[in-house]
Amino acid sequence: MDCVVVGAGVVGLAVARALALAGREVLVLEAMEAIGTQTSSRNSEVIHAGIYYPQGSLKAQLCVQGRQLLYAYCAERGIGHRRCGKFIVATSEAQVAELQGIIAKAAANGVDDLVLLSRDEARALEPALECVAAVHSPSTGIVDSHGLMLALQGDLENAGGLVACNSPLARARVTAQGIELTAQDGTQLRARTVVNAAGVHAPSLARRFEGLAARHVPGEYYAKGNYFTLAGRSPFTRLIYPVPEAAGLGVHLTIDLGGQAKFGPDVQWVDTPDDLVVDPARGDGFYAEVRKYWPALPDGALQAGYAGIRPKISGPGEAARDFLIQGAAEHGVPGLVNLFGIESPGLTSCLAIGAKVAGMLSNQ
Ligand SMILES: Cc1cc2nc3c(=O)[nH]c(=O)nc-3n(C[C@H](O)[C@H](O)[C@H](O)COP(=O)(O)OP(=O)(O)OC[C@H]3O[C@@H](n4cnc5c(N)ncnc54)[C@H](O)[C@@H]3O)c2cc1C
Repeated sequence: MDCVVVGAGVVGLAVARALALAGREVLVLEAMEAIGTQTSSRNSEVIHAGIYYPQGSLKAQLCVQGRQLLYAYCAERGIGHRRCGKFIVATSEAQVAELQGIIAKAAANGVDDLVLLSRDEARALEPALECVAAVHSPSTGIVDSHGLMLALQGDLENAGGLVACNSPLARARVTAQGIELTAQDGTQLRARTVVNAAGVHAPSLARRFEGLAARHVPGEYYAKGNYFTLAGRSPFTRLIYPVPEAAGLGVHLTIDLGGQAKFGPDVQWVDTPDDLVVDPARGDGFYAEVRKYWPALPDGALQAGYAGIRPKISGPGEAARDFLIQGAAEHGVPGLVNLFGIESPGLTSCLAIGAKVAGMLSNQ
């Protein structure tokens, strides 16, 4: 076998598509019974502009590149999306300086379309909004992530690739003839190249690769993000974000393509990636946060929605880490690429990550 991609989330599928379009033979192994049932279907479905990430980071580069590729791909393939725009709102005078910092950071990443709005200018566009000032990002949007994954899978299959569901990979062994893979049911397969796109499970899977030095595998941490949906119509047509917090982007409002508004995700560090139930009591804390920018939020309007787990490689209180995309140059194993810490903006970046990984493997 030429290439095996482990994981059929949006990133694994985008990598597999890129490899197949480059003429490679590709098999995707997916543990679950369908594609995209994990983090890729438990997120905000936002096409991020690329505003917040440190200059020169992979997150910054791949988000800006990926966003452009994604809009073009959605238009070409008829995938549901809308360039609805987003506001980042300062709800105190102290936060106005932070908005200036956000504009400067975005410009350094090549995002030069942000506009600072006064309270009145912001409220002229979004009358329900309360704020001191706001930044408008016109190139932020939303996407139908399932439609996207089906299109990626379609391209992969048209190029001769295959997705095998119900096929969890148990372990692997690096040999002189390639990487020997053993599925949980004992099936064995040898591949020239392997991409570990197992999302929250990528580090634990990498630890089961005999021949990959343990020092190259980062620790894994799980930052759960809970969402609460809004009963009734969305009061906003754009996405509304507070000034970002430490481990997430703050309790923001996003809208899906059906017009349903939801608030979240918050940040709750958990011990296991299987902890996906939303505790309705956490909604109590949402009301005060949301009312900072939407004072008219009615009592009792929030309903427990869903949760997703951020595949973190830095723990509580530590600085956020960049995407960690490791090839032979980093870990010394020819033909192996590990994708660690592909949290937000991983959905936005998927096509750019696909192109990058296909490039890394082009001569192997
Ligand atoms: C709360 C939240 C909000 C987010 N919001 C956004 C957003 O608005 N915009 C944005 O750009 N990004 C967002 N993200 C990030 C984005 O969702 C992820 O970066 C992206 O979905 C990661 O895709 P993936 O394919 O790497 O992982 P996953 O979707 O988790 O896919 C990994 C796949 O690997 C499979 N797998 C695991 N182990 C094995 C094994 N041993 N064998 C075979 N298969 C295996 C799993 O079953 C799974 O299907 C958000 C993330 C979270 C958690």
